[in-house]
Amino acid sequence: MTAGRVDLHTHTTASDGTLPPRGLVVAAVKGGVRVLAVTDHDSTGGLADAMDEARAHPLEIVPGLEINCDVDGAEIHVLGYFMDYQAPWFQAFLAEQRVERVARVHRIAERLAELGMPIDAEEVFAIVKEGSAGRPHVAQVMVKRGYVKSVREAFDKYLRAGGPANAPRRRLAPADAVAVIRKAGGVPVLAHPGLANRDELIPALVEAGLMGIETYYAEHSAAQTRDYLELCRRHDLVPTGGSDYHGPQSGRANPLGSPAVPWESWEALRRRAGRA
Ligand code: AMP
Ligand code: ZN
Ligand code: FE
Ligand code: FE
Repeated sequence: MTAGRVDLHTHTTASDGTLPPRGLVVAAVKGGVRVLAVTDHDSTGGLADAMDEARAHPLEIVPGLEINCDVDGAEIHVLGYFMDYQAPWFQAFLAEQRVERVARVHRIAERLAELGMPIDAEEVFAIVKEGSAGRPHVAQVMVKRGYVKSVREAFDKYLRAGGPANAPRRRLAPADAVAVIRKAGGVPVLAHPGLANRDELIPALVEAGLMGIETYYAEHSAAQTRDYLELCRRHDLVPTGGSDYHGPQSGRANPLGSPAVPWESWEALRRRAGRA
């Protein structure tokens, strides 16, 4: 049975999205979304408001998050769904992740200074507020200072994996992110693998407990989507998908609820979490 759109990857002001959780829920309802996963970076801080707002709408919130890891020359992002996220040990883990994010902003600021583009880390944290700090916040300060014209330009020239101002994360390997999500009772899913171009790492992640691959993703080609579906079949993984929506003025244009994610994907994810 089909009952509206499914979007299993979105961000709010709890990380680097531009909409607060309640605003995201309202926008999702307008976009015809009926199942919405909120997957902020290293934070579940947006979930309470999103769930509360959703009570007034025909929309179900899936508790989630996204953990970004660095490997040699690339980034591996791991999504997690249905964790026992209120567990104190898990919140302590996320708090440590955010402390490392703050330290990383300082490291990036040092690199920018060396490149002749000084920024004040406090300016970055003023944009982050109580959320999870990340490169998009740094990029916004770079735009404000006139070093680049857009967030996208900041990434393409300086902040991308291997870029001259990027400072790699020090904490977590992708297999560790998978394991921590499993330990919290959640379903780990490899995010947008087509962006990383490191498919050779997938078998080891499956070994570590990976349960899905984000297959339906705006920046995946039709051929990539087909390949990841096949990979899911081969490894008995759930093919998920989502918009990776970051809100208006985020420098990312893909709308909520797009691309389409089959209702069956959502049902399979729920079954994997033992919530069917
Ligand atoms: P971080 O949390 O520091 O790893 O930053 C990751 C975030 O940066 C992603 O979730 C995207 O929102 C954003 N991002 C990555 N690449 C780009 C890009 N080329 N243009 C705009 N935003 C990007
Ligand atoms: Zn993001
Ligand atoms: Fe990501
Ligand atoms: Fe994301």
